[in-house]
Amino acid sequence: MAQCKTPNCDNKASYVRDLCRGCYQQAAKMVRDKVTTWDELMAMGLAGPASARGRPHGARHRFTQAFQKAKGIREGEATDGN
Ligand SMILES: [Zn+2]
Repeated sequence: MAQCKTPNCDNKASYVRDLCRGCYQQAAKMVRDKVTTWDELMAMGLAGPASARGRPHGARHRFTQAFQKAKGIREGEATDGN
């Protein structure tokens, strides 16, 4: 596992897009709020590609699956910014 991409973050455990959980959640919030986009963050070197883990087509991260289940969202209805 790579270190979190955020320069001033010393969290060693990257989670998604080469970011730790906290940084990813903040980045995802900014993408959701249309402050930025994942493409822009990747261009700035502040995030990695979503496919960095090589997840199978259509598969979502277990946290996303759990979130969707808890929220009552069916597969395919939610967006993660892609
Ligand atoms: Zn971080």
